[in-house]
Amino acid sequence: MKVLILGSGGREHALAWAVKRSPQVTEVVCAPGNGGIAQVARCVPVNLNDLDAMVRLAESERPALTIVGPELPLSLGIVDALQQHGLRAFGPTRDAARLETSKAFAKQFMKRHQIPTANYAVCTSAAELEEAVGYFHPPIVVKADGLAAGKGVIICPSRHIAVETAQGLFSGALLGTTETKVVIEEFLEGDEVSFLCLTDGSHVVPLVPAQDHKRIGEGDTGPNTGGMGVYSTSSMLEPHMVEWILRHIAEPTVRGMAEEDTPFIGVLYCGLMMTARGPQVLEYNARFGDPETQAILVRLESDLVEALTACVDGRLSETELRWADGASACVIASSSGYPGSYKTGFPITGLNVASQLPGVQVFHSGTALRDDAVVTTGGRVLGVTTSGDTLEQALARAYQAMAEIRFDGIYYRRDIGHRALKHLRG
Ligand code: AMP
Repeated sequence: MKVLILGSGGREHALAWAVKRSPQVTEVVCAPGNGGIAQVARCVPVNLNDLDAMVRLAESERPALTIVGPELPLSLGIVDALQQHGLRAFGPTRDAARLETSKAFAKQFMKRHQIPTANYAVCTSAAELEEAVGYFHPPIVVKADGLAAGKGVIICPSRHIAVETAQGLFSGALLGTTETKVVIEEFLEGDEVSFLCLTDGSHVVPLVPAQDHKRIGEGDTGPNTGGMGVYSTSSMLEPHMVEWILRHIAEPTVRGMAEEDTPFIGVLYCGLMMTARGPQVLEYNARFGDPETQAILVRLESDLVEALTACVDGRLSETELRWADGASACVIASSSGYPGSYKTGFPITGLNVASQLPGVQVFHSGTALRDDAVVTTGGRVLGVTTSGDTLEQALARAYQAMAEIRFDGIYYRRDIGHRALKHLRG
């Protein structure tokens, strides 16, 4: 079968790599793809902002399955459109994707279905917000309602700053787009865990958990990024905790969406804070995470395409996922300056040597092929992804591979997984 993947980052490279391993797959097409994806799939140009162009491409390719990587096409209704053209697409419809595309919707949904989350208020004006902040204790978390590419959550040390921040979101001064709704939220403390599940709209199957590192600087300092590294281990969540999260968070979410006539099919990503009063949902994403997917998929032993097809066809209960024991890690190499401004176009060397080391897959996030050379094109450039018997081994392999890779201005965090290692060593 032919599989089409929409997207151009490390997540899509990992998806293309896993899809290609399926014995059912004869051809992988990725739109638009990148320099690394071009080595495992046929890349075709498309604008992920242009719904009609994506539909035209899918109509001409006629894949047996389309996998939607990023949130933007989901928010435009790509899955609805492909279904209308009789094409099988993995991902939620536009209405179901509101779990990610509207934080106000997600919070109100969680309240309706008693899903544990931080206390909150949804405000539609600065005056409303000024009143609401009085009920919260600083620090106060202020969130833009809509998609904001990781920039829409601001932790405010005082009520006054929370009001100012919200004003900036309403006016457009902060994100460049004006918000009609702003969510304020109680600040939660604990360890964050990314808990991703596959669902066919009724049955829910968890993937292995992962922990992301969002800040640019070592020791979790500096501004938030799209993710600088991630790891996954078998022992990250005890089996009883996985059971609890399924029973109290993931399954009620899927059931609630079905009850509200917007069944959710695809990857349900629950961003959790493991607090003193139990796991609380920080956010939902309606798609695979990046870079979580890279670390998760290198641990998957069973057929990804079989599982994703089973979701779309409503027979996930017949499918079982098999995982490698042990651990995996993904360390992101970025362009210096990211998440602010940075330069691109630098040639990358050492990729072949790094990729041949044991247990290593180098997934490309922001690269292109230029005259047979791989060059940088983005802020996040590569995700050096490894598996190992232990987290220590996986991380050692990642940093050994990273040492082989060179480009002008390369920056990566040297402390990915440090908290877990400290914990493991007692
Ligand atoms: P979100 O996009 O909602 O996941 O938020 C991005 C990041 O902001 C999260 O990964 C957390 O690190 C942080 N965050 C979001 N909500 C809260 C909260 N209620 N309390 C503390 N930190 C939060």
